[in-house]
Amino acid sequence: LKRSTGPTPVASLSALARLLSSLAILEQKDGKLNHGSLGAVTAAQKLGGSIIGFVAGGNIKAVAEEAAKVSGIEKIIAVDNAAYDKGLPENYAPLLVENIKKGGYTHIIAGHTAFGKSLMPRVAALLDVQQISDITAIEDEKTFVRPVYAGNAIATVESSDDIKIITIRGTAFAAAEAEGGSASIEDGVDPKAECPTEWVSENLAKSDRPDLATAGKVVSGGRGLKSKEDFDRVMLPLADALGAAVGASRAAVDSGYADNSLQVGQTGKVVAPQLYLCAGISGAIQHLAGMKDSKVIAAINKDADAPIFQVADIGLVGDLFDKVPELTEKLKQ
Ligand code: FAD
Repeated sequence: LKRSTGPTPVASLSALARLLSSLAILEQKDGKLNHGSLGAVTAAQKLGGSIIGFVAGGNIKAVAEEAAKVSGIEKIIAVDNAAYDKGLPENYAPLLVENIKKGGYTHIIAGHTAFGKSLMPRVAALLDVQQISDITAIEDEKTFVRPVYAGNAIATVESSDDIKIITIRGTAFAAAEAEGGSASIEDGVDPKAECPTEWVSENLAKSDRPDLATAGKVVSGGRGLKSKEDFDRVMLPLADALGAAVGASRAAVDSGYADNSLQVGQTGKVVAPQLYLCAGISGAIQHLAGMKDSKVIAAINKDADAPIFQVADIGLVGDLFDKVPELTEKLKQ
């Protein structure tokens, strides 16, 4: 009988988990925690080990208290300084680097959002490690899965860096539970780095409809809509009848039919709603990259050979100017 002298595999796994510590970067806006950024906590939970949350901004106490309730977080590091309110990467990156050096974390995780995309490569460069972008799955503490070539191939990447700087695809990691946790709150270090960039103003499109990136249903229009007037007249009542967010193809955005912030695709937003209903969209590969993980895809197009029908669960061949208003009326009834 051979007796094992080393730790059992289970014991070694939990020993490894004890060595791992992840810093989840939590976004805030106007003193409120952005729940969309809680996918970073879910990713950290998949890694195992301890999970620390990081928040920064003016009057950060309320945000830190909200973050402390998130399930799975042990400790919140909070930095109270209004200079971090807008998340300018030029001053946020040195802030994060100082806090990473102090905490000695093994994994730093942020959403693959506009904020995460500007911030994390700077942090990686300052720490002289590789950035690991837009991951959709975690195989183990050093192996990650990420789509490449607009989602046409899936790469499995292994990092040998001591610190892994990771951004996660929001549609692949559901937000952690906002309630149920009781983390402690600790002040972080504030290097008060010189910032060459000044926040001047922002001009955001306001809408009462659900947020495109997180909506459960999305109604999307393409070049087939022909004009902004027709886009608004045909697609918006459908969105309202379904309680859906509005999206658009790049051709529709470039033609001025829809706002830039509504673009879905490789160079727009990546969405994975329960229902993605599109009309007048051909289904170019760059558009599919932003919506093909939707649970149910429904498409209306007058061309039966349009590539969108290759990914659609439900297809309707017909003129959108007849079919969409007809569908909207039926939904209203
Ligand atoms: P079209 O391809 O012109 O299709 C219009 C469709 O409407 C056709 O299928 C037509 O049959 C149908 N149609 C017309 N009239 C009617 C009618 N009356 N009733 C029913 N159907 C009708 N695109 C994106 O969407 N998102 C991106 O993020 C994106 N990023 C890109 C990045 C790069 C680097 C490049 C090169 C391209 C990118 N594109 C992106 C552009 C993409 O290649 C396509 O050009 C674009 O998606 C086409 O938009 P569309 O389907 O609305 O228009």
